Amino acid sequence: MKGTLLKNEPLAKYTSWRVGGPAEQMYLPESKQDLIEFLASLPEDEKIFWLGLGSNLLVMDGGIRGTVINTRKRIKEMDLIDSDKVYVEAGAGCANVARFCTQSGLTGAEFLAGIPGTMGGALKMNAGASGSETWNIVESVEMINATSQVTQKKAADFEIGYRSVKGLNGEWFLSAVLRLNKGESETIQQKIKFLLKERANNQPTNKPTCGSVFKNPPGDYAARLIEACGLKGYVIGGACVSEKHANFIENMGSATAVDIEELIVYIQQQVQQQHGIELQTEVCKVGEAL
Ligand SMILES: Cc1cc2nc3c(=O)[nH]c(=O)nc-3n(C[C@H](O)[C@H](O)[C@H](O)COP(=O)(O)OP(=O)(O)OC[C@H]3O[C@@H](n4cnc5c(N)ncnc54)[C@H](O)[C@@H]3O)c2cc1C
Repeated sequence: MKGTLLKNEPLAKYTSWRVGGPAEQMYLPESKQDLIEFLASLPEDEKIFWLGLGSNLLVMDGGIRGTVINTRKRIKEMDLIDSDKVYVEAGAGCANVARFCTQSGLTGAEFLAGIPGTMGGALKMNAGASGSETWNIVESVEMINATSQVTQKKAADFEIGYRSVKGLNGEWFLSAVLRLNKGESETIQQKIKFLLKERANNQPTNKPTCGSVFKNPPGDYAARLIEACGLKGYVIGGACVSEKHANFIENMGSATAVDIEELIVYIQQQVQQQHGIELQTEVCKVGEAL
């Protein structure tokens, strides 16, 4: 079998929060074909978890049972397939997608430049920023299921919402075709520079976080509500509410997943008590408690 199979692999090194216990086994394919063959070889009842760049995950301290598929830096081909269409594989980094589109003189993917995830993660989360979101630019996707069946789907086959995509039916994204608009590379580049500078000014981009922990409730901002509760700098164990952006939780170095989970619950309780609003998490909690 091609690719790499790791046993009992610590997941903390694969998540941007730097927490999480081990994966029972982790498979890193070399190509799309390896992945197709590997999935077909797994027992029917195997639990499968798909990992992107781990930038939106709270992996619990007991780790993940079953198989973790890790496509980062692996299945990452990109190709200009028409004057306004780009083929992108799921493991390609969002920043690389933005760069490829810029170099191809295509505008519309600039917001991806600051999202520290893979295309697969961006598709699953409908990642967005600066007024744009992933599914605005998706024309079609290629999906794979646990028995290695590959299918093509149109964007219209899914129900797309704010940081949510419904209609996956036990499938994962292998690749996407993005439809963009023609633009001027220099202008697109300038826009990306501006967006990245704004992000560095407003977010703790140099700290271990998972980005925004909570979704913004309708008509308001989670960060505003948390800050108004006086929670900036609030600490539980090794986790603290960022002083720079109240919707970010920083791992101060020694945080466990439980510290982060407890801080999430505490924030939710405080916002509920003080504002009567139930904050929903944007981050995906996975795995087992210790
Ligand atoms: C500093 C920082 C800033 C951030 N800024 C933003 C932002 O501006 N906007 C925003 O939306 N998010 C932001 N995020 C959150 C995160 O980057 C996005 O949600 C991103 O899309 C997650 O991609 P990932 O590859 O890291 O996915 P992961 O975190 O690895 O996984 C997230 C989910 O996607 C699933 N998944 C991954 N790959 C696939 C696949 N191929 N097929 C099916 N499911 C898959 C996983 O199983 C999991 O459920 C930020 C995070 C950080 C750390």
